[in-house]
Amino acid sequence: MQDHRKNPRLLGALGKHFPRTHALAAGVASFALALTLFISTPDVEAKRTALEVSLSLPESAVQQIHEQPEAPTTAAAAPPSVMEGLRVVQETVRNGDTLSDLFQRAGISSAEMYQLLSSGQEAKQLARLVPGEELTFQIDGEGSLQSLELHRDRLSKVEFSRDNSNEYKYALHQRDPERYTAFRQAEITNSLFVDGSKAGLSNNLIMEMADIFGSDIDFALDIRKGDKFSVVFDEEFLDGEKIGNGAIQAVTFTNQGKTFSAVRYTDSNGDTNYYTPDGKSMRKAFIRTPVDFARISSHFNPRRLHPIHKTRRPHNGTDYAAPRGTPVYSAGDGRVIKAGYTRANGNYVFIQHGERYITRYLHLNKRNVKRGQRVKQRQVIGTVGATGYATGPHLHYEFLVDGHHRNPATIVRKLPKAKAIPQSEMARFQTQTQPLMAQLERFEQPALAQNADEKDSVN
Ligand SMILES: [Zn+2]
Repeated sequence: MQDHRKNPRLLGALGKHFPRTHALAAGVASFALALTLFISTPDVEAKRTALEVSLSLPESAVQQIHEQPEAPTTAAAAPPSVMEGLRVVQETVRNGDTLSDLFQRAGISSAEMYQLLSSGQEAKQLARLVPGEELTFQIDGEGSLQSLELHRDRLSKVEFSRDNSNEYKYALHQRDPERYTAFRQAEITNSLFVDGSKAGLSNNLIMEMADIFGSDIDFALDIRKGDKFSVVFDEEFLDGEKIGNGAIQAVTFTNQGKTFSAVRYTDSNGDTNYYTPDGKSMRKAFIRTPVDFARISSHFNPRRLHPIHKTRRPHNGTDYAAPRGTPVYSAGDGRVIKAGYTRANGNYVFIQHGERYITRYLHLNKRNVKRGQRVKQRQVIGTVGATGYATGPHLHYEFLVDGHHRNPATIVRKLPKAKAIPQSEMARFQTQTQPLMAQLERFEQPALAQNADEKDSVN
């Protein structure tokens, strides 16, 4: 076999601990590991470290390193020389990297790469690497690959390791984060995103909240100073460190004095959705904001003089001023009945929803759909532009019921709602969701916040 170890250049021996702490269980703490750290020269850039474990380990310790508790086979099969020169090379997938590039940087022959790739269906995922993912190669004294770990993210790791008969064996290791309940509340004095972020909500959570109330509140036009919201959600921790947010569990939003509430519920079929506390689905036939409101910077004044005609004319729709290129969504499921260009409308899309409803989207920069095409609610059908009679980039949005223009800002709330929790499941729904609403209300009561036990989970 070829020796591929000529690549790494020794810069210095550092007395560092092996960083992959999971590989060293407490049981092997007494074995002295002499670790030599190799780092590539700066011209090779990025993260590349090679560690050499140079000593004879008892079989038990070697198994720990390989994380193969069921496999005394690995240690038994490996000749002593392999134990002595087990090398660990870590590579981070960079933009434009192919698997060959990564194997080459790790000093592993393409013959071995192909052996691994043809070892089974699971190996195919190695062909779909994403920049930022990490690969850990374990290479024996002969320069031969003993195991490869693919760290998809902090929660999942895929491992291919050579077994007794020289074949690669596949294992998926997954970790569950610990989840804690968190509560946040904010009053809007500036904007949804500014005040939400001050209260410690991520942009994703704010978007999630806007999605939940997407049929009740027009987050582009309806939000006012003094509006407020509170939300109970999960925070996910791994090894004591926060790694992300789980789903919103319960949320209330008070918009212009009217309060909307929603709870998360997984029904007996396993479908998860948001409902009002009395069991009506939050998902409705139409969303209120057909444009990505997160990008709307200035709000349109519907009482303004028409910028071209300089008169106050009946305005058959709602205008959303937004930067050119902002995504425009279909307000509901439907079918594109017209998509084209006229001098007045510019690029436009008309969508039929069921028998009675039509939505129209004008002045688009780009159209993403064709006549006859079926679209889903929230599907991007085009982007905001200023084509046709428009002085600046905005979406002109119309809503027609039985052929008559209606005010999209008020009609959506009056339309039939999606189905509610069936009576047969109401008891189950209430058992699961009432504690969530109770929790939200308890957190909202400042008087109860002095209860230290309850405050522990609030952050
Ligand atoms: Zn308009």
